[in-house]
Amino acid sequence: MSDTDVLVVGAGPTGLALGIDLARRGIAALVVERGDELFPGSRGKGLQPRTMEVFDDLGVLEAIHAAGGGYPVGMIWRNGERLGEHHIADRAGPTEDSPYDEPWMVPQWRTQRILLERLEELGGEVAFGREVTGVTQDGDGVTARFASGGPVRARYLVAADGGRSVVRRAVGVGMTGEEVDPLPTLVADVRITGLDRDNWHFFPQGEGAEDLLAVCPLAGTKDFQLVARFAAGTEVDLSLEGVRRVVAARSHLAAEDVTEVRWASEFRPRVALADRFRAGRVLLAGDAAHVHSPAGGQGLNTSVQDAYNLGWKLAAVLGDGAQASLLDTYEEERRPIAARMLDLSTSVHRGETRRGGATRQLGLGYPGSTLTAETRTAPGPVRAGDRAPDATVSGVRLFDAFRGPHWTLLALGASVPAPPAAVRLVHGPAHRTYGTGLFLVRPDGYVGWAGDTPAGLPEYLARFGGR
Ligand SMILES: Cc1cc2nc3c(=O)[nH]c(=O)nc-3n(C[C@H](O)[C@H](O)[C@H](O)COP(=O)(O)OP(=O)(O)OC[C@H]3O[C@@H](n4cnc5c(N)ncnc54)[C@H](O)[C@@H]3O)c2cc1C
Repeated sequence: MSDTDVLVVGAGPTGLALGIDLARRGIAALVVERGDELFPGSRGKGLQPRTMEVFDDLGVLEAIHAAGGGYPVGMIWRNGERLGEHHIADRAGPTEDSPYDEPWMVPQWRTQRILLERLEELGGEVAFGREVTGVTQDGDGVTARFASGGPVRARYLVAADGGRSVVRRAVGVGMTGEEVDPLPTLVADVRITGLDRDNWHFFPQGEGAEDLLAVCPLAGTKDFQLVARFAAGTEVDLSLEGVRRVVAARSHLAAEDVTEVRWASEFRPRVALADRFRAGRVLLAGDAAHVHSPAGGQGLNTSVQDAYNLGWKLAAVLGDGAQASLLDTYEEERRPIAARMLDLSTSVHRGETRRGGATRQLGLGYPGSTLTAETRTAPGPVRAGDRAPDATVSGVRLFDAFRGPHWTLLALGASVPAPPAAVRLVHGPAHRTYGTGLFLVRPDGYVGWAGDTPAGLPEYLARFGGR
């Protein structure tokens, strides 16, 4: 007997996004969180365009839009003078196929609140004050033990418990990585007077990176996120007095201009990748599986997309009778992407790459996956494995058609088959973004199968269960 189908350990962005995806699919899931409340800091404040698309599908985009704003232009200061602007990210501009063009800034604590509200709206819940201390598994399920309170038994367990994952250790999965930067870094949410909220303020000192100070207004709040780096071996003081000292020493502001420290933490940028993303009935997602440097803003985004890849697969196995081996494709698809995004974050951190197109995560896909089947003789611009772009087909906006837990079949300039009841059909003439053919779009917005005719389509769909 299981208490629940899926136990999700950790109510960070990964656990909450997965909780939402499972709840809207009617899968019994419980999210357990060690803390008594959600994480309070702003750290992962940059939501990439692909994550905005995922949030659109999960039903939180409007709230996320209302809670944040675009990235401010950087301003370089020296001796109290504005030296000039610094553009942090290359701008793309919205297009029909990619409507969300730039990273959207929302403090992580607020993103998490919005996700929790959505989870609760869907009937899901987070059990706070529940710290997992151990995990054992057998052929039928997983048992988690807690620092206090009784054990929970589940058919699957997802470790979304962050970079220091207890679950990852409990199931014996190693993590290989290195420190990207030996310099201790302070990150704090502060209230400051005397700085405008239109710019991300940079106060470079000399040539060295160790005395960097950057102060970014956090859209939708009265706070700024302050980041300061220190020489190796420095004891970082997280108190109001400590933050005031750094600001007074490195900028034209007076110590008293810092009026409040609302949250502060010290970290050392690290890059690491779990050796496996699955150990039997335990799956690792988010920071539990990959830890990034914050540069480039990829950690939270890659994490949310792990959850998005996993949710529909767990539901297919638990609810629709798909083979459990479908879950192997989670590691197959997500681990190489995590490795790529880690390389990208590290390269942005080292100043070798700008925050450009790749950081938006719109070009990622699963072309080599065993779930990808391109059967057309002459594929056009969108191929199986690619992200399914937005477009308007016969007056239907595709992102509206994709929204929800179902699969979608696009028939573009091709004969229109009768799809199974659970697959939504959109048809129209050949489209310049897609080309011609039948495109079966997975619940997570990637083209799984593409064909000139429906031959092979029923067999393909059968792999995902009976619904
Ligand atoms: C300074 C900084 C800036 C960043 N900027 C960005 C950015 O701009 N963009 C970006 O994409 N990413 C950024 N990141 C990274 C981002 O914050 C993380 O990638 C993201 O939080 C990962 O989410 P997660 O849910 O996997 O893990 P976490 O957010 O770490 O959540 C894990 C949760 O699990 C809980 N937990 C831990 N152990 C247990 C246990 N044993 N039992 C129960 N619960 C447990 C924790 O309390 C926590 O709530 C930044 C990180 C830092 C430090």
